[in-house]
Amino acid sequence: MSIQPTRRILVVDDEERVRLAVQRVLTEAGYEVFLAADGAEGLAMVQEHAPDLVLVDLMMPVMDGMEFLDQARRRYPDLTSVVITGFATLEKAVEAMKQGADDFLAKPFKPQDLRMVVERAFRRAATLQNISIEKSRTRALVASMRNGVLVVDAAGETALANPVLARLLGLTPEQMQGRPCAEVLPWPAVCECLDQAMHRRREELTQDDCRGQVSLGQGDDATYFQVTCAPFYDARRQPVGAVAVFDDITAWRRLDQYKNEFVSTVAHEIVSPLSAVLGQLQNLSKGLLGPLEEPQKELLGRARERLESIANLSKDLLDLSKIEAGVMGQAGRVDLAPLLKEAVDQLRGKAQDKGQSLELEMSGKLPEVMGVGEELQRVAVNLISNAVKYTPDGGQIAVRAQGGDGEVVLEVRDNGLGIPAEEQEAIFQRFHRVKNADTRHIPGTGLGLAIVKRVVESHGGRLELKSEPGQGSTFTLHLPSAPE
Ligand code: ADP
Repeated sequence: MSIQPTRRILVVDDEERVRLAVQRVLTEAGYEVFLAADGAEGLAMVQEHAPDLVLVDLMMPVMDGMEFLDQARRRYPDLTSVVITGFATLEKAVEAMKQGADDFLAKPFKPQDLRMVVERAFRRAATLQNISIEKSRTRALVASMRNGVLVVDAAGETALANPVLARLLGLTPEQMQGRPCAEVLPWPAVCECLDQAMHRRREELTQDDCRGQVSLGQGDDATYFQVTCAPFYDARRQPVGAVAVFDDITAWRRLDQYKNEFVSTVAHEIVSPLSAVLGQLQNLSKGLLGPLEEPQKELLGRARERLESIANLSKDLLDLSKIEAGVMGQAGRVDLAPLLKEAVDQLRGKAQDKGQSLELEMSGKLPEVMGVGEELQRVAVNLISNAVKYTPDGGQIAVRAQGGDGEVVLEVRDNGLGIPAEEQEAIFQRFHRVKNADTRHIPGTGLGLAIVKRVVESHGGRLELKSEPGQGSTFTLHLPSAPE
């Protein structure tokens, strides 16, 4: 528990009777009271006793109350004051309050009026002090953050920029102050994001709307930032500004790049010898080195299955790292039609082995899309091969593509196992597989849909999944069509 120091009040009044009456009431109320008979004496006592509150009569000889307040406040801008006034000088009291006095007390007053005004003045001073502490705390927090911070007001002008952000932009916080976002930031997308954060309804804002990545500089010298924007509101819950926080993620990106290079090197080193061993096992199984007994064939078959799963994992890892590094192939205009035919042809054998129907339907000529053909083909193969894998024998798989409304829509539908609702988000994460009695014996790496998601996002597209366990799944992919 903190012990409150006794609060000090200075009473400046030329009428001794009033001074003494005020002193008595306030001393009884537990305050420490000092008395001064005029403004000049009052100023000296302000200096000497540093009071928490000054009660000052407006009409005094030598130096009147206004003059006293003016001089006192020049030295102590935060001085809390209450003016005491006769009825005839009420206008002066109003004037004094306009100039910063906190309250006034009209003569004659009762002891309870005096106590009430003094308590109110202390309460107000405490609120103001809290606001000023809060403000200074926020400023210190923002200034000491290692992230860049920009606060804009409702008009999109800089209300506050911290030194980290200013330094990045080659400016000082003062140079940024009051200037429109578009003038101080080299990233129009961030200004748009701040604007959206303020003007969209709260419940309409998704996390993705408020996040994004931007970079400064080129090549090896580039710095990357994750930017998060959030609005703030007034008491009526109206947005009055927004904050953007810039998190430097350059080191993470480099690490990610090293990890990709590492994975791709390891995977590459595994794929080649594995393919050679698989080829040799195949020769053995076919009896090219002499006839085999049934148990030997079976053992070789199992060994091949195991090796194939390692080879598939290595291939998937290799593809994922190529896609993440953007080195899968050249970007350009892509005609999806031949690419889809080839993907379906690749999987027709597997579907036939399971007695499944596999249809490809393209209505009219598909518009071209912008992107990397190899990556888009990989997407189609992954989705169709999943449909084949996760649909029981005799099932139906349909691949449909059509253009319109500035996009191409590709749909891969099956009537297979389906995916439980609680897994429908997670299956797009690396290595996530649905584990249940139906899927346990189906081989896979858990990387296929992670690859699909990456490619679709990097092509500016989106992916939807509708699935019902026991009924089947439909993956629908929307890709923006290339400009005419
Ligand atoms: P993999 O098939 O190699 O396990 P994916 O990333 O392609 O990896 O798929 C992740 C998981 O999503 C699969 O393990 C499977 O459980 C589920 N899944 C994907 N496609 C389908 C589908 N068409 N029908 C049912 N489940 C599917």
